[in-house]
This record gives sequence, C-alpha cells and structure tokens, in this order.
Amino acid sequence: MPSKPSPRDNPGPAQAVAEFRFYEELNDFLPPELRKRTFSQGFNGTPAVKDVIEAIGVPHAEVDLVLIDGESVNFSRRLHDGNRVAVYPMFERLDVAPLTRVRPRPLRRTRFVLDVHLGTLARYLRLLGFDTLYRNDYDDHEIVRVAHEQSRIILTRDKGLLKHRVVTRGRWMRHTKPLEQLRETLAAFDLTRSVRPFTRCAVCNGSLRPLAQRKAIGLVPVRVLERHDKFARCTLCGRIYWPGTHTARIRKALEGAAIDLDPAAREAPSHFPGPAKATRSVR
Ligand SMILES: [Zn+2]
Repeated sequence: MPSKPSPRDNPGPAQAVAEFRFYEELNDFLPPELRKRTFSQGFNGTPAVKDVIEAIGVPHAEVDLVLIDGESVNFSRRLHDGNRVAVYPMFERLDVAPLTRVRPRPLRRTRFVLDVHLGTLARYLRLLGFDTLYRNDYDDHEIVRVAHEQSRIILTRDKGLLKHRVVTRGRWMRHTKPLEQLRETLAAFDLTRSVRPFTRCAVCNGSLRPLAQRKAIGLVPVRVLERHDKFARCTLCGRIYWPGTHTARIRKALEGAAIDLDPAAREAPSHFPGPAKATRSVR
C-alpha cells in the first residue's frame, strides 16, 4: 500500500481531473508512458497540490516551482477540477549560475548531509572541499533534522526520505556508483567552480589547516618528515595529511569519472596536492 492514496490507483471513479506536466529531471520519477507529456490525473475532493504530486511519485523536495493555470503557487494550494499543473525541478543550477558566473567564486556555500548508503560519495565530496555530513548510523529523522537545522541539502538513494514534510532541499541520486554520483552531484548543483581539493578531512569533515614541517616533528614518522615538507592537520580530529601516492589515485579516479575541474577550481589554493596518507596525532 502506498503511504498516500494515489488518485490513479483509486478504484472508484475520480470526481475531478487535472492536467499535469512534469519538466526536466522530474520525469525520472514517472513511469515511461507519462514522461515529458501532459497527462490527466484524477482526484477526489480538493487535495493540496503537493499531495497529488507526491502521489504521482515525485518527492516535493525535488520540486522548485509549481504553476497552476500559469500562476506560481505554493504546495498547499488546493487542486480543482480542470486545473492545468506544470511542475519544475529545483532551479539551484539554472537561476544561480548567471549570478555566480560573474564572480571569481560563488557566494553561496553548498552543504550536504548524506544518507547511510552514500559513504563513498561523502568521502569524495569532502576531498573536493564540500562540507558533507555523513554517519553510517544516521536514521532518517536525524538526517531530516540536521538538514532542517543547518540548511543542508539531503543526498539520498531513498525517495521516501525526500517526502518528509520539513525537507526543502534534496536530491534522489540517480546513479549507484560513487564516482558517477559525484559527477551527478557536481552537475546538478553546478559545483565545479566551487571545488577546493583537499581542504577538508575525508574522514571527519573537519577543515584542514597548514602545519609547518617543524610542528609535524614527532607527529609523523621520520621517513615522512624526510620526504615531505608540506603538511596539514584536521582542526577537528587531528589527523595529519601529506602528499603521496594516494593523491595520484584520487586524481585518476576523478579523471575516470570524467570530472573536468573548472580552471578557477584547479588554481584554487589548497594546502598541498593531496591527502596522501593520514595519521592520527600521536599526542
Ligand atoms: Zn578529521
């Protein structure tokens, strides 16, 4: 049984009919025969347009704009017989891009909270400098609460999570492989210019701060001190990072995912080429 009654599944004759058209990537949630076309949707009474949209299968958190008979409405607007409804996806990318394009760096800071299935994606996002909360024991309510309180975008493989009432910004990840998910995320939120590689701890999401070589004495193995002069320390967990072979692996992975960093991002300051190896502070 679906959690909300679907007018289309209703065995009784619907008393009213509205025409719906979903745009762009919202079609991913529709059965093939309803994609990219106008279709009739029966319903009874005068339900909120949000409830009918979700009954059709589209999480409201992916919706940015609803027009009823050409007028922009909010989710609570009641649907009536004969209405024509147009539903558009988050314009995160579309309306912000022209503003941010004229600046060397976007003004907006995009922050995420990820569901328990996206641990590898969380590490990738952190490696590229994005503030990304993730725990493998998060439950749905915790994710929703954190997203709400901290204005974070939820990334999830669970469409149901995006149907929680207070969720306003979220994306159901279309891809299942982490590198493809990374690519999907950067594209969906227009983030390639916001990439700041290796400025954030991949393990705990803390910010990395440069650490002078002399201050690394006693905290990292002697052979590492002899071979490297650039270090950074996580301000949260104390892990110390230095460049090394892992850097090459990360770059190779990014290339494998065909992630082409914007030149501005490539030239952005990072503390060092990559977090090759990390160690906990011995103190
Ligand atoms: Zn850390």
